[in-house]
Amino acid sequence: MAIDLSLPGEVQALVDRTRSFIRDHVVPLEDAHDGDIAAAGGDKFRVELQQAARDAGVFAPHAPVEYGGHGLGMSDRAPVFEEAGYSLFGPTALNIAAPDEGNVHMLAHIANPEQKAQYLAPLAHGDVRSAFAMTEPAPGAGSDPSALTTRAVRAEGGWRINGVKYFITGADGAGFFIIMARTSGEPGDRGGATMFLAPAGTPGIRVGRHLDTLDRSMVGGHCEVFFEDLLVPESAVLGEVDRGFEYAQVRLGPARMTHVMRWLGAARRGHDVAVAQVARREGFGSKLGDLGMIQKMVADNEIDIAATRALLTRACWELDRGESAANATSIAKTYAAEAIFRIVDRSMQMCGGLGVSGDLPLARLSREVRPFRIYDGPSEVHRWAIAKRTVGAAKRALRDSE
Ligand SMILES: Cc1cc2nc3c(=O)[nH]c(=O)nc-3n(C[C@H](O)[C@H](O)[C@H](O)COP(=O)(O)OP(=O)(O)OC[C@H]3O[C@@H](n4cnc5c(N)ncnc54)[C@H](O)[C@@H]3O)c2cc1C
Repeated sequence: MAIDLSLPGEVQALVDRTRSFIRDHVVPLEDAHDGDIAAAGGDKFRVELQQAARDAGVFAPHAPVEYGGHGLGMSDRAPVFEEAGYSLFGPTALNIAAPDEGNVHMLAHIANPEQKAQYLAPLAHGDVRSAFAMTEPAPGAGSDPSALTTRAVRAEGGWRINGVKYFITGADGAGFFIIMARTSGEPGDRGGATMFLAPAGTPGIRVGRHLDTLDRSMVGGHCEVFFEDLLVPESAVLGEVDRGFEYAQVRLGPARMTHVMRWLGAARRGHDVAVAQVARREGFGSKLGDLGMIQKMVADNEIDIAATRALLTRACWELDRGESAANATSIAKTYAAEAIFRIVDRSMQMCGGLGVSGDLPLARLSREVRPFRIYDGPSEVHRWAIAKRTVGAAKRALRDSE
């Protein structure tokens, strides 16, 4: 079997354009605002950044061509998203930040033509932002989505939704919400969820406080959202009733991998900064980069970057073949989330005091990448799922042999 990892010419050209755009235009803006997108101007800043990305020919690499995007599959997205992730503001500039990028992917796969016109088209063009509302305060859905408590009950002409969500990225200022609500069964049941689409201005949607999380690079924060007798028409159902958990997988597998792509870019930036520093800085009669323990950190970063990329390549290959890639994405996500944090942490260590200061981007990269070990499935949940599949297969093999 011949393995060809070279990129098609147009993808390589997009990678090159993205690299130049991010380094020349976006990194300086991120540095000027210490990676805090609200301080940089929030949505107004997003609109300006996205116009600059359009002008540079790098906007919306993921969106279907008919919606103004480049229509890249998962494998081709990987190197482009990695270049975008080199700056914390890069994904927003290209319109590939979470949750919009994952929502574009899901709407392209599941929405009907009317929903695509109303929601996907403006989202793909960057005219609006969106939010994906799944997680709930205890005892509701978190690592265990089946704990879902938000309810949608049939009402005249549609559905009435009640429930509380939190950690909803981008909720403040979003144009619309994708809401996961229980339409049958009880909390703890594995099925019975439905996804609903609702414009943000609909009476019954209230955005509450921002949760003050470590990170600062996502427009619209991570918010509480209250659905209080929210009335939506039948046409608000995304896909089919009671298939919400299934659709969540359509979104989550690829969304996990695009997070890996973006954060890998951030980790590479951290590593580049640290390597430049230890190649320059002297101590104990040599460059720091020639000291054994620093060399170990440099080498371990290189290994973590290469291993993350390899696992990502495998998972994207499966996704592009139309497979669920559940195990491959769990493995890649778990390894990457931990490796990316290690890379940034080692990079800070190599830079000494400067590493934890505002003079270098490392401290801000560290605060951004830490939550990735929690969202899109905490490492423990993925390990649990990987082990269950592995032991389950061994049990089946044992049964078959008896
Ligand atoms: C920055 C950020 C952005 C987010 N954006 C969104 C968003 O846009 N939309 C949305 O719906 N949600 C969002 N979330 C929520 C995120 O999806 C949840 O935080 C995540 O699913 C974990 O749920 P939880 O926080 O309730 O943790 P819990 O379910 O309370 O779990 C706590 C810890 O318990 C451990 N644990 C859980 N299950 C197991 C297990 N089976 N075995 C061993 N250990 C286990 C893990 O260590 C886990 O971290 C976001 C979260 C963050 C931090």
